[in-house]
Amino acid sequence: MVKETIEQFTRLQYFDTKIYEAEKLLAAIPEMLKERCIEYETLLEEKKSLDVSYNEVRSEIQKTEAENSDHKILLAGAQKKLTSVHNNREYEAALKELDNLKKSISDSDNKTRNLNEKAEMLMNAVTEKTEMCSQSENIYIKEKKEKEEENKGLFEEVAILKKERDAFAATVKKSILSKYERVRSARNNLAITPVNNETCSGCNMKIPPQLAVDVKKEKELFQCPYCQRFLYNPKIEAKAS
Ligand SMILES: [Zn+2]
Repeated sequence: MVKETIEQFTRLQYFDTKIYEAEKLLAAIPEMLKERCIEYETLLEEKKSLDVSYNEVRSEIQKTEAENSDHKILLAGAQKKLTSVHNNREYEAALKELDNLKKSISDSDNKTRNLNEKAEMLMNAVTEKTEMCSQSENIYIKEKKEKEEENKGLFEEVAILKKERDAFAATVKKSILSKYERVRSARNNLAITPVNNETCSGCNMKIPPQLAVDVKKEKELFQCPYCQRFLYNPKIEAKAS
């Protein structure tokens, strides 16, 4: 009788543990996907901000180039003026204007060169980030698909397990079943647990040696004095699966 109860309990526990684990996995899936999604969105934001910087530099280049071509027109005018001066004072003034314009043009050229280098660096960064975005997106899509498949598989698995579990539970005497259920709901889904090395596997506490001996004899249904879980001798486990 005790042996039979232990077998029934371990069989029920087999189902309940599997159902519990599958349901835990199912619950973890949306969380995992959310993390992937955040990773992708972060990369996308970084890419967008690089795009903005790149466009800013591009428009600064255009502005500098426009200024530069204005200066070049002025330079041509100043050079012309130099040939038609009437006195030394005018000559000095035209020469000074010419020098100033040449300096502005040289400064603008340097600025444009630096800006072009910056633009190129930003363009490379944008390209790299775009590539990272697309990789991350692909991983996300792939994982989402995989997880959905897994989800489907797990849902089906849980449904089958529950059905089998219910069918088996129906064969167990109600008073016995409620004993099991009471401990299971109070003890984190684990109602019956093996004793290994005189230790309860449910709470990892050392049980009195005599109790360990008694559990082996299977003459009575024993509970762990610490966690109240039912105890059994592990060799029965093979039959349960
Ligand atoms: Zn215990």
